[in-house]
Amino acid sequence: MAEIESPAARGDVHAGVLVLGAGPGGYTAAFRAADLGQSVVLADQRPALGGVCLNVGCIPSKALLHAARVIAETREMAAHGIRFGDPDIDLDALRGWKDGVVSRLTGGLAGLARQRKVATLRGTGRFVSANLAEVTAADGGVTTVSFDRAIIAAGSSAVRLPFMPNDDRRVLDSTGALDLASVPRRLLVIGGGIIGLEMATVYHELGARVTVVELMDQLIPGADRDIVAPLAKHIKARYENIYLTTKVTGAEAGAGTGTGTGKHADKDAGGLRVSFDGPGAPDHDVFDQVLVAVGRVPNGRLVGAENAGVLVDDRGYIPVDKQQRTNVAHIFAIGDVVGPPMLAHKATHEGRVAAEVAAGQRSYFDARVIPSVAYTDPEVAWAGVTETEARAAGVPYGKGVFPWAASGRALSLGRDEGMTKLLFDPASKRLIGAGLVGPNAGELVAETAHAIEMGADAADIALTIHPHPTLSETVGLSAEAFEGTITDLYLPKRK
Ligand code: NAD
Repeated sequence: MAEIESPAARGDVHAGVLVLGAGPGGYTAAFRAADLGQSVVLADQRPALGGVCLNVGCIPSKALLHAARVIAETREMAAHGIRFGDPDIDLDALRGWKDGVVSRLTGGLAGLARQRKVATLRGTGRFVSANLAEVTAADGGVTTVSFDRAIIAAGSSAVRLPFMPNDDRRVLDSTGALDLASVPRRLLVIGGGIIGLEMATVYHELGARVTVVELMDQLIPGADRDIVAPLAKHIKARYENIYLTTKVTGAEAGAGTGTGTGKHADKDAGGLRVSFDGPGAPDHDVFDQVLVAVGRVPNGRLVGAENAGVLVDDRGYIPVDKQQRTNVAHIFAIGDVVGPPMLAHKATHEGRVAAEVAAGQRSYFDARVIPSVAYTDPEVAWAGVTETEARAAGVPYGKGVFPWAASGRALSLGRDEGMTKLLFDPASKRLIGAGLVGPNAGELVAETAHAIEMGADAADIALTIHPHPTLSETVGLSAEAFEGTITDLYLPKRK
């Protein structure tokens, strides 16, 4: 793994711009600031650049999700005349491949930092005052960094449930789940949000019997129910149990269900006895491993912000303006630490804005929409206003829907459960929101985000020639459905 380089000597260094945190937001801010002529110091406690997303989040999970998809496809093809044997899974090799993907990217980032002469410091950064910070290395060595401007990009941490035996190594957070130490026979996923369902997808295909427990009355509560429904149906048929509107009330080490597979499995003979409170859930059940994925909390309190006079709110977020400035004019904050959604692509855009403003440019974070994607099977993606939000806020909208059962491309992939839904402002006919579910929905949502940014209306989208046969056609066809010009479906005429 590429090590973050320390400056030649520890001691005092000066930064035009100090960036605390080297996740996608932090390294983007550092690189952009350097490109604008600033002298930049980038500090992070991890051995490699890239933060949670690159090291233990977005990227390794996508490698494992790809493996999961391949396993699923080989099984699905059995119904269409091509039979493979059961997969022979070499966990060490799979883990090695995943780690290799990460190392290649972190190595690339280290190279980009070197080329830009961004000094990287490995250690935990804390403000001492409004112009001074200390970066403390794992061995206790301290580098003092004086700075003209600073960008806080300290990210977030997984929420821990107080009643879980959190020191038990069978209780995992997303990092532990991605380590892939073993595949449990029975896995409980607490939290039916994005992390929980992505990791459930991986572990299910690797052979675990998965149960998901979600507090709310639907999976991925931020997305529209009709968009989530095909995913819910798909996994309901495959997973052991899905408990909605259910709380986990306790967990303790108890009798096991047997051993899992993989290198630690034999030592895990005992299981975790978990109690539930909710309709349809049993009083308790026993699992070999439990993944806790109930959200993340901002790391706003961990950087000594108060020493610099930077306000941190009750929840640990650092309030900023449209230029990413905190209440202290020369200190900026970006990414998870400034508020939801906690998404890498939001952080990178905010990082660019902070770097440009720090370098004297008049930049603003004025994106209209931030798309969200759950890389589950099928994928769920949305951008802009959801139907649930529009209804709750009384925002008028018109809707164009195209079911993928009428898409030749979807059928040729052996998948017909997908759906594309576009929401339009009824007066201007401009696109205001989109929701998609199906294979590759995460790629398709980009077109809709672009259309919203460009102020595209239904005709702009419908009259854009989409290549045939692709899933992208479903976006154009949804706009046609809204316009009433669609020929690929028969929709009774509106009065
Ligand atoms: P999340 O907020 O997406 O989902 C957490 C889920 O847990 C929610 O559905 C919530 O209702 C449920 N929950 C909360 N407390 C619970 C409890 N006690 N018992 C049962 N369920 C409970 O959070 P996450 O999945 O942990 O992800 C954290 C953050 O990381 C999110 O902001 C997410 O958007 C982001 N993330 C994004 C991606 C991606 O873009 N693909 C991937 C991973 C994570």
